[in-house]
This record gives sequence, C-alpha cells and structure tokens, in this order.
Amino acid sequence: MRRLLFACLLLGSAHAFAFDRLQVEGYTLPNGLQLLLKPGTERGHVAIRLVVGVGLDDFGCDDKELPHLLEHLLFSGIDGGSEGDLEDRMQALGGEWNAYTSNADTTFVIEAPARNQRKVLDLLLAIITRTELSEANIAAAKQVVEREDGGHYSHLQRLLDRQDLGHTASNQLAVELGLKCAERAEVGHLTRAQLEDLRKNWYAPNNMTLIIVGDLDKLLPAYLERTFGQLDPVEPTDHPELPQIQQAAASHRELIHGWVGNSAKLHWLFPEPVLDDQYDETYDLLKDYLDWALYRELRLKHGLSYGPWSEREVLGGVGFLSINADLERENLADAEQLLQDLKAQLLKNGLDPAVFARLQHAAIARQAWAVQGNSALADYYWSASGDYNNGHFSDPVKRIKSVSLDQANQAMHQVFKQPGYWRIEKPLLSYDALGWIGAGVLGLIAIVLIGVRVYRKRIA
Ligand SMILES: [Zn+2]
Repeated sequence: MRRLLFACLLLGSAHAFAFDRLQVEGYTLPNGLQLLLKPGTERGHVAIRLVVGVGLDDFGCDDKELPHLLEHLLFSGIDGGSEGDLEDRMQALGGEWNAYTSNADTTFVIEAPARNQRKVLDLLLAIITRTELSEANIAAAKQVVEREDGGHYSHLQRLLDRQDLGHTASNQLAVELGLKCAERAEVGHLTRAQLEDLRKNWYAPNNMTLIIVGDLDKLLPAYLERTFGQLDPVEPTDHPELPQIQQAAASHRELIHGWVGNSAKLHWLFPEPVLDDQYDETYDLLKDYLDWALYRELRLKHGLSYGPWSEREVLGGVGFLSINADLERENLADAEQLLQDLKAQLLKNGLDPAVFARLQHAAIARQAWAVQGNSALADYYWSASGDYNNGHFSDPVKRIKSVSLDQANQAMHQVFKQPGYWRIEKPLLSYDALGWIGAGVLGLIAIVLIGVRVYRKRIA
C-alpha cells in the first residue's frame, strides 16, 4: 500500500516539475510485473507497450515461428467471439493496437484515448489470458504467418536458401558463420500443446514489462494492482545462449539477386570486437564517421554511389559494422579499391579529430529532439529498458560525451585490422550480357536456317 501511495503522489506531482524524459516512475508488483508509468506532455492520449520477454531467439531453428504464431493467435477473439468482434471492441474504445515479435521480445503496442485507458488495458489482459487456442484459430493464424513470411515455402526457395542464393548479404554471412538458421522456419508442424506451453511458461507477469506514457489516470496504480497484479508468476525459464561465430566464412562472395540488371550492391562486413566501456555509443559514433566518409568519397568525390551507407546489425550473438554502396556493376572493382584505400588511410592516420568532434556534437544535439510525444517516448522506454535503474533511465548524452577520440580510434583499429567479409549482390546477367546472349541465339538460329536451306538445295 505504501508503494501505491508513493506512485499516486508521484503521478499527481509530476507536472509540477520540468519535463525530464529520463525520470520515470517504475516499480515491480508482488507478482513480478515491472511497471513504467510516465505522465506525458500530450493530453487526452496514452501510449501502452506490453513487452513480453520471449522472442524468436528463444527457440531452435524448427520452432522459431512459435512466438510469432502465438502473437497472431492472441488476436483471434475472446469469449466465443471472432477476430472481427475483438476488433469491434477496440474500435468502440477509440483505440488502435498491433503486436510485434522480434528476436528478443514480443510486444503489444496500443494507442488509445486517455479516458478509456483502463478499458483498453482490460481488453489487453483479456486477449492474453482468455484467448482460446482452438485448432480452427491455430489453422487460421498459421495461414497469416505463412503469408507474412512471403507465402508458401516452395522447394525452389528452399533449394536457393541452401545454396545461399535467396538470402540478403548479411543473412547469408550469418548462415555461413553459423549465426543464423539456414532455412526459413515453417509453421505447419507447430502444435497446440507447444503454444499452450509457450503461453504458460513465458506469458507470465515476472517476464513482462508494462509501459504506459501519456495522460495517466489517477486510479491507474490501484487498477493495475487489482488486474495485472493478479496474474500468477511462473518459475522463470532461462534464455538460451545466443550463437557465436562457429566456422570460417569466405572472404569474398557474389550473391545472385534477380535475373537481369546493371546495378549491384557492395557490402563489406566486420564483426565488432567487444569493448569494455560505451560499447554502443563508440560504435554508433564510428558508424556516423563512416557514413560521412563514404558520402565524401563515393558520392561527392567519385560519383560512384548515390547513397552509400554504413550499418550496425546484430546477427545471432555478434554485432557487425558494415560499409555498403549501391553501384553500377561495371564500377564494382573501382569501388572496392576506393574502400580498401579508405580503410588503409584510416588505419594510418586515424579519425580526423575535427570531424569526430563535430559528429559527436551532432549526436548529442540530436538527443534534444529525437524523442517527441507520448508514443515515441513509450517506444524509447521499450528499446532502452535495459538501461533503467531505480527511477531513472541512464542519460544517453552523458554516455555519448564520455566517448573520447582515443577510444573511438582504438575501436576503429580493432574493427579494421580484420580483413572483413565482402558480399556482392547482383543480378545473374547484365543488360549487355543479355544482349550478347540474345545476339548469339539469333546468330545460331540464322546459321541453322542457312544450313537447312543449303542442305535442301543439295538434295534437290
Ligand atoms: Zn506477424
């Protein structure tokens, strides 16, 4: 009760203070449900995120789609009603909802008018606890998931995936290094018992975070104790270890994407060596630096690529930093050489201190306007929930500021002293090659026709 009183006081007084997005009222209910409540600046609206700590990474290659399938199933209807009836109820409350299954979590996303926030939360709780996992509902949800994944997994697609031809560059590399499953997971064989188990073992309050941002109802803390607070906790299941690099991969590979065309995409991927301090901020700044350097070199100086870019991505349990460019395929060799030169020059001279300082300032300045409004704030808390401690999210500005030029240079050296992996995506044939093949075929037909004529004349 003291906790409840404390929460009420905070909700009541929050508007008296200057708005600090990093300060959030958070507490854990006795059943383990983590709550993050933040009065927002926009009136009349609430953004709700229910984050369930189960994602694709928690299942092996064959059963990977299990959490995604359950996510869809939970919208099939409650109390004997259909999917459509459920949607009617949300519409009547003036809200909108959706859900997403990622590698790490399954999240239910709701935007709703503030006056109906408790009714909307009732509905959310109902779909999680009262949806009946009937065979008919499961069959319908399987169809939807299969369609989302790009339709039925054909024999040809499976063959292409096994040859690595159907994957994008980073996915292909991840499969080659043993970081990802080679084939797309299917849903056909998943059973009702597996889905029930998933709901029982993972959809538990001690594996959930409920984030509510906006025009918060004064009765919300009491309401939450009475409703979500009554869910039964479970014995937590450990998340499986994420795969690390298991085997070597080719340093250079060409991947066929499409049949005919003159364009190509060049990717150069590097595993990110683990850093002790400011891991993400250091590599984010390095990524900003590379974006700028690529833009200068490839677009402005040499006009080889309109929008070259660098990217950070996590594959399995390994972070990757990549350099990428869309090109004409005839410029591939030139671009590769330019990028090799850029890397050599960075290793020799280090990062330009003035440019680094400018990009660091820009990254800090961006923090002032990067998160606007209730919904963006709720999404921010969702993505940063690991940084929450004792009423506060850690300050990204401080973390960015604390990255020194020296630190960034060390990270750059560690990344670029590796050879990296080149992956080139291009169509099977260029238009020129197609033209030559076309001419060749016509020539062949002409030769055959002439031959036939000569032969007939001789016989006659
Ligand atoms: Zn889906």
